[in-house]
Amino acid sequence: MIVNDKRYNNINFELKKQFSQKIIKLSLDGGFTCPTRDGKIDTRGCIFCSKNGSGEFTNFNTDIQIQIDEQIKLLSNKWQNCKYIAYFQNFTNTYKNADELMKLYNFALTNPDVVGLSVATRADCLGDDVLKVLDYFNKHTYLFVELGLQSIHEDTANFIRRGYNLNTFENALTKLNELNIKTVVHTIVGLPTEDKNKMMQTYKYLNKKDIWGIKISQLNILKDTDLEIYYRKNPFYIMNADEYISFICDIIENLRDDIVIHRLTGDGAKDELIAPKWILNKRYVLNGIDKELRKRNTHQGFLYS
Ligand code: SF4
Repeated sequence: MIVNDKRYNNINFELKKQFSQKIIKLSLDGGFTCPTRDGKIDTRGCIFCSKNGSGEFTNFNTDIQIQIDEQIKLLSNKWQNCKYIAYFQNFTNTYKNADELMKLYNFALTNPDVVGLSVATRADCLGDDVLKVLDYFNKHTYLFVELGLQSIHEDTANFIRRGYNLNTFENALTKLNELNIKTVVHTIVGLPTEDKNKMMQTYKYLNKKDIWGIKISQLNILKDTDLEIYYRKNPFYIMNADEYISFICDIIENLRDDIVIHRLTGDGAKDELIAPKWILNKRYVLNGIDKELRKRNTHQGFLYS
């Protein structure tokens, strides 16, 4: 029997249940851009987004299969007998025409060890032609679509320059749900427009939505972003690691217990990171969350009603 060793419903446990073996996500750069970068909506991108389009660990190469082979080679030193999910991470991974998407996603699935697809995108980049492609892959492989919402609050959406409103997110979610496509919603903790109460409202809102998974990250201030400029002019409060751990436990306790948690802390790239530096110590944060939940003797959904 597969046992969940966490007090929350985590993606490793979920994937082990599904595939009965270790599954690792391969972060890929499919050569996309984004409507808030190419001028369709804006040219500056989201305020926190780096030149890599929120994918600091990918290695852009036009050939997706080479990216996959190289990563599998590196990972196989540590993990034997595992399978992979191709994760299209950088920029907006549905922002090409349907034929190109079809080809690209198919390339990623050519390797027999790749057993699924994860596609990170924006709620306003899911037109009918794109949905048809996603519907096809949903019927042929293990697919989930990741939506970068970050917050439900409009003032925050304006501050981060997200470029679409909550209504657009809700419509996208409805369409994905109609196709039975699993959705993962990205959220950010620590945005300067929000206190903890306001942040928690995003999770309480998401509890009422038909979402499959969630990612929670502390806001990273990265070099050469507009957020870095903003932060230097207007230094805002950033939680320390222990405060973050405690607040994440509050969120977990309030989160519906069937929502699959894909991430509880970010993966800051060392050379790019301005603050907070504690993000680099991912082990400390994740172990701290386990310890705190044990101390409280609580679990995901403990305070959900
Ligand atoms: S939508 Fe994503 S890729 Fe585009 S600018 Fe914002 S964070 Fe970056």
